[in-house]
Amino acid sequence: MIPSIAETVAELEEALMPSRLAMSPVAYVPTMGALHDGHGALLQTARTLGDVVVVSIFVNPTQFGDGEDFGRYPRNLDADLARCEAEGVDVVFVPSAEEMYPFGIDGGPMVDPGERGTILEGGSRPTHFRGVLTVVCKLLSIVRPARAIFGEKDYQQLVLIRDMVRTLFLSVDVVGAPIVRELDGLALSSRNAYLTAPERQQALALSRALYAGRDAADGGAAAVLRAAQAVLDTVPEVDVDYLALTDPVLEAPPQKGDARLLVAGRVGATRLIDNVGLTLDDAGDD
Ligand code: AMP
Repeated sequence: MIPSIAETVAELEEALMPSRLAMSPVAYVPTMGALHDGHGALLQTARTLGDVVVVSIFVNPTQFGDGEDFGRYPRNLDADLARCEAEGVDVVFVPSAEEMYPFGIDGGPMVDPGERGTILEGGSRPTHFRGVLTVVCKLLSIVRPARAIFGEKDYQQLVLIRDMVRTLFLSVDVVGAPIVRELDGLALSSRNAYLTAPERQQALALSRALYAGRDAADGGAAAVLRAAQAVLDTVPEVDVDYLALTDPVLEAPPQKGDARLLVAGRVGATRLIDNVGLTLDDAGDD
């Protein structure tokens, strides 16, 4: 079925009215468009989690810093709508910036992400999570889904959204979905479209480093970081922003058990992020 397209909050409410009346649970996937198979997996998960699937496509200006790629971020609404139709999406919400920011993008209240918004991605992109949490909070208020699905690709974002939902008592289940990768390991991202062929090869250092780190997990935290760093060192074209090993909620360096290894780096003009979960053994730690 062709999805309904809503450009305003009023149109979305109209499209969802029958589901609201029937109290059908809505499963919701927020995106910035340029949909790929990573988004596709989220949509398929959404299909299993709600009677009604809503997707939003909104390139959110407030999460881009000065000099970042807001202006050139890939936009392809026709292809996105075709994918939404193929995945059985019921409603696509495509608001304008004016609709989302009635006081302008520099005006009105914003959501402060707190301490954990200042590390990792927040260290390099100080206003990023403020923009992300603000738009996600608005979108959740508009769509009012029973469940919202976010990819682990943006791991810190997922952690901060869980924090926000808990802190602001938002009534939604946040569901995390695993990272979808190319066969060679590269995590799917709308920004991969920026990469030249040689850059795409160089970008593989990120996922290879993460896998090498994960493979060294039996040796403890220091071994993980050493193994990952060794891979990154072989590809100097990747300008590494951070390589970090933390506990799953990004609070402290892990000693033993579940941990997350996260990396960010610039390949040419393109900034890429990736991460992997692993289980640490403290036996060989030094
Ligand atoms: P974006 O359009 O990049 O803002 O992403 C929208 C949602 O898709 C976010 O929850 C992302 O974490 C998720 N996502 C993006 N790429 C992937 C991927 N390769 N695998 C799984 N989820 C992804």
